[in-house]
Amino acid sequence: MESEIFIIGGGLAGWRAAEAAVRGGASVTLAANGPGNTPDIHALNCPVLPEDSVECFIEDTLSSGKYQNDRALVETMCRESLALNDEFQWDGTLIRPVGTSVPRCVSIRHAIGAIAVAGIKERLKGKVTVEKRTVTVEELLALRRAQPEVKIIIATGGWCGKYAFSDNPPYLKGDGLEMARALGGALRDVDDAHVQYEPTVRIEGPRRGIPVITTLLYEGAKLLTPEGKEFLEDARLNKDELSRAIFGIGGTAIYDLREVPEEKILECKMDPEERVIKVSPAPHSSMGGIVIDTKCHVLDASGKIVPGVFACGEVTAGVHGLNRLGGNGGTAAMVFGTIAGREAALELRKL
Ligand SMILES: Cc1cc2nc3c(=O)[nH]c(=O)nc-3n(C[C@H](O)[C@H](O)[C@H](O)COP(=O)(O)OP(=O)(O)OC[C@H]3O[C@@H](n4cnc5c(N)ncnc54)[C@H](O)[C@@H]3O)c2cc1C
Repeated sequence: MESEIFIIGGGLAGWRAAEAAVRGGASVTLAANGPGNTPDIHALNCPVLPEDSVECFIEDTLSSGKYQNDRALVETMCRESLALNDEFQWDGTLIRPVGTSVPRCVSIRHAIGAIAVAGIKERLKGKVTVEKRTVTVEELLALRRAQPEVKIIIATGGWCGKYAFSDNPPYLKGDGLEMARALGGALRDVDDAHVQYEPTVRIEGPRRGIPVITTLLYEGAKLLTPEGKEFLEDARLNKDELSRAIFGIGGTAIYDLREVPEEKILECKMDPEERVIKVSPAPHSSMGGIVIDTKCHVLDASGKIVPGVFACGEVTAGVHGLNRLGGNGGTAAMVFGTIAGREAALELRKL
């Protein structure tokens, strides 16, 4: 390894870490075996309305997570998200994810994940060594033994790709969890209870496995039984509650978009002809993972820092509790990616 920092993962968290590390004067190698879920990030949370606040954002995140979140991580994410307002010129999109008290999901052309990463790659051109490949646990252990001074940042995303029906790419199997464990890190909440299901994923046709956005439930969409009957008094529930309700009627529902205004359908980059869609809940986000502190240090089972090892993004645990608030995946990747890269670079200079 010729670089001072080795980042595993080329999604939003990994690239944000790379940018912050380079800004901190470090040399960086980033290895990734795909784009991860990042190209699917339409919008992310950031308080922008006058009636919104960091406190309100914290409360929405904790209440969505059934207060099982790590409060310090939530506070860090919500506070630091404000800086994103200075970094990005949002395009006026303002979505209210289910379970949120005010609209807070901002975007640029409904493609903030892809746009943010493309911008970073452009700015870092020639400044980062990029390797398109799969990193293994054995390789990391060998690196640790041979060059313990190299800082490692694990940003390998979640594990929902391991399920047979999921809206994640199959290579997202949680490789980073084993990496952290092998390096001495602790894991938390790595179980089925900490898998968020996307309630409305297409189950047939060429777009099978691709979700239909739940925010349309605020725009006149309805969820119906396969026989076409309404079964929810109010469909504007959290994703986990919606998923449970659909499992309660046998696991399949009809997502009826016939009363949604065409401009809303187009805003979501959907086909205005596609109005009646068969859907089922599918594993979407993992909320457990590597235990970190607010500086993205990986912690061991006794809460001590594992020297030189950082983690950020969906591979980590604690931010989302039992249910990730829509839009917080992108915000967490942005905020903690930057923290991980910055802190790893800072530590190099402290030596
Ligand atoms: C369909 C869909 C829509 C979504 N929409 C939104 C949204 O609108 N807003 C929002 O906030 N969140 C959304 N999310 C969640 C969001 O996409 C994730 O929380 C976010 O992408 C996590 O970023 P990350 O960088 O941690 O992981 P990822 O973006 O998944 O990146 C993980 C990276 O690690 C690499 N990797 C994994 N294992 C290895 C290995 N062994 N070796 C080398 N590389 C490896 C992958 O190739 C990839 O580059 C959505 C998720 C899905 C599935």
